[in-house]
Amino acid sequence: MIKASVIGWPISHSRSPLIHSYWLKQMGIDGIYQKHAVEPQDLGSFIQTLRNGDHVGTNVTLPHKETALGHIDEPDDRVRRIGALNTIWRENGRLCATSTDGPGFVANLRQTLPNSSPAAQPVTILGAGGSARSIIDEMLRQGVDRIYIVNRTFSRAETLAEHFGPHVTAINTNEIASALSQSGLLINTTSAGLSEQSELALPWTSLKATALVADIVYTPLITPFLQAAKAHDHPIVPGLGMLLHQAVVGFEKWFGQRPVVTQELHDLVARDIDPDYKP
Ligand code: NDP
Repeated sequence: MIKASVIGWPISHSRSPLIHSYWLKQMGIDGIYQKHAVEPQDLGSFIQTLRNGDHVGTNVTLPHKETALGHIDEPDDRVRRIGALNTIWRENGRLCATSTDGPGFVANLRQTLPNSSPAAQPVTILGAGGSARSIIDEMLRQGVDRIYIVNRTFSRAETLAEHFGPHVTAINTNEIASALSQSGLLINTTSAGLSEQSELALPWTSLKATALVADIVYTPLITPFLQAAKAHDHPIVPGLGMLLHQAVVGFEKWFGQRPVVTQELHDLVARDIDPDYKP
């Protein structure tokens, strides 16, 4: 039986087993996907176990996304650019890796709002952590010409802007209104959730009237940030879909068939997060 997994420390919160088990059952594949709590000092020895046997790969989450790189034979170009990975698989005896967060974000955006053109206008991103890095990389690949980064710790936004080059600008809080007035897409990647009480509370009325608003946080399913966006009449993109779409590539690499993100899967995971969820 083919085995795959997700590793992190902690890992108990992960919904990935629910997603992959759904696809395994739906496709009738003789496989299993489990979560493993792996402490930082055990990361190298865990990844070594993927080199042989029926355990053919793993998803990697916090705090291992960067450090796992040191144990991989063939990181793809995306991993090299962003310096982090979230999916490892074995191919011809070698351990390969990619990062699916950025593509998962864009796939969710396209599925949620099929008529949107996310690359056509400037984008403002709140947050400068690992997920912001993946999303900036993918938005640049999609052809976005201007990305503004706003972060509580300004120096981290500056580091990202320097890393990605002239299309990416770190902005201070006093420049947010100007950035929002130009942006066709606003994305929250901070773990704060940006409630109205947050120190990053936004001047919502400055945001371009037609702008789309996305949050990558998916607990709760509709975050205070998305509620505020809705209250200001912006189309919203919740984060759960990104979690589902980022899982597609790993499943295909390990189990050999490309799965589909369906409404049924979405509702299954949504109910696991919020038992009162109604489609
Ligand atoms: P990181 O720890 O790398 O970055 C966290 C970011 O949030 C930093 O920019 C940090 O700012 C900011 N932040 C944290 N607390 C606050 C606060 N109180 N006020 C303002 N800003 C704050 O995390 P990741 O980028 O990996 O993940 C961020 C979130 O995205 C998590 O909640 C994670 O669960 C979610 N996520 C969702 C995915 C999905 O598939 N939907 C995929 C990946 C992540 P500072 O630099 O100042 O500390």
